[in-house]
Amino acid sequence: MMTPETFRVEAHRLVDWMADFLENIEEYPVKPATKPGDIIKQLPTSPPLQGESFDSLFKDFQSVIMPGITHWQHPHFHAYFPANGSYPSILAEMLTTTLGAQCMIWETSPAAAELEEMVMNWLKEMMALPAAWHGVIQDTASTATLVALLTAREKQSGFRVNDEGFSGTEKYRVYCSSETHSSIEKGAKVAGIGKKNVVKVPVDDLQAMKPDELEAAIKKDIQAGYTPLAVVAAIGTTSTVAVDPLKAIGAVCSKYNVWLHVDAAYAGTALLLPECRWMMEGQELADSFVFNPHKWMFTHFDCTAYFVKDKEALIRTFEILPEYLKTATRGQVNDYRDWGVQLGRRFRALKLWFVIRSFGIDGLQKTLRGHMSCAEDFESKVVNHPDFELILPRSLNVVVFRFKPVNENNLEKLNQLNELLIKTLNTSGKVFLSHTKVKGVYCIRMVLGNTRLEQRHVDEVWAWITDAAKSL
Ligand SMILES: *Cc1c(COP(=O)(O)O)cnc(C)c1O
Repeated sequence: MMTPETFRVEAHRLVDWMADFLENIEEYPVKPATKPGDIIKQLPTSPPLQGESFDSLFKDFQSVIMPGITHWQHPHFHAYFPANGSYPSILAEMLTTTLGAQCMIWETSPAAAELEEMVMNWLKEMMALPAAWHGVIQDTASTATLVALLTAREKQSGFRVNDEGFSGTEKYRVYCSSETHSSIEKGAKVAGIGKKNVVKVPVDDLQAMKPDELEAAIKKDIQAGYTPLAVVAAIGTTSTVAVDPLKAIGAVCSKYNVWLHVDAAYAGTALLLPECRWMMEGQELADSFVFNPHKWMFTHFDCTAYFVKDKEALIRTFEILPEYLKTATRGQVNDYRDWGVQLGRRFRALKLWFVIRSFGIDGLQKTLRGHMSCAEDFESKVVNHPDFELILPRSLNVVVFRFKPVNENNLEKLNQLNELLIKTLNTSGKVFLSHTKVKGVYCIRMVLGNTRLEQRHVDEVWAWITDAAKSL
């Protein structure tokens, strides 16, 4: 067993390793060249009988594990969406882990519950969200969306499905655009609504949901005997960061009395910038809202902010009250086990608190604006190069583009070229890019949002892209 003395020595050593690693992160390949099975074949098939020294654990961490890690904190991680961290967030995670508190109810750590309440209120103020909303931290946006669908289901059924299960007569429908995240479908499956009852509403040229098509789909469903349960509007789709028109969608939801859930998992962070708040026009019509500080807000995974208008419906959906969890403080405090799926909860509010206080609103805004200007610059590089094409106007800090040599017009050929271009760049270890398809066109999806991103990285990556394209 590790002694307190060894812990102290090794912890100090690790902090130095952590600081060195983050300072030198650009020396690591963003994406490892690991092939399937490469790591597992280096691991003993059985655990040791006798305890080993930390020295030997850490040696293996460096030689076996590190070579198989994808470096999400690398400034040239431009794939998917970021899972940003930051120094204050790491420090908070160290404390959270050291405390090892399980924060299911107020009594099991009053400070964790009260800090969570306050930090969620801070976020509302920082992002100009409706003051009447109630916030809670969930593990992921997928869970938050499931929570929204379950609450909508219970409210609609008079909390009957929770009690009796489905009778077989419910014919619920959930609506989202054809571009919304796969977590909507997953949520509908888990909530017993069924994947087939997720109606994909068509999108416009900017990949945003068409509200008139939404209304037409709802009307048609009502006539056919379905019950419209919820609409999920995306503020920033995963593929192209398209923004659904919230106000018009909200008007349809109000008219037909349908729960409106807003999925702003990635783009929500941009609401820290007043110039981006147009995206949320009509927000007062929403019943629930989710965004991930663990994506673009420098707070380590996992940390999802979920807001709901009808707190009573949320709690009634998830409340449990076994004898052994009854407390005298019930009703005076927030017992967050009743605000979502999980009972046991990590103390996640601490890292959010540290991040907000360490950056300050001003520091957060400056960093986001820095990312926006990097993306603006990247977009203009694409637009001004004869062999590259912008596929959609830039949305926030994401640029969707492709390599298109002037005389090449064959779709299949261009799709193959761009796939090859990404593959070439990703195997270089210098950069990690991912793709999407927009109306059959294979595009590169450039995300400029890493904590450590600077203008020099934009110049660097553009040089690599154009060089690699030339060599194809
Ligand atoms: C990333 C993302 C999600 C899923 O986020 P998790 O926290 O990983 O569940 C959902 N919706 C959108 C729009 C996303 O970008």
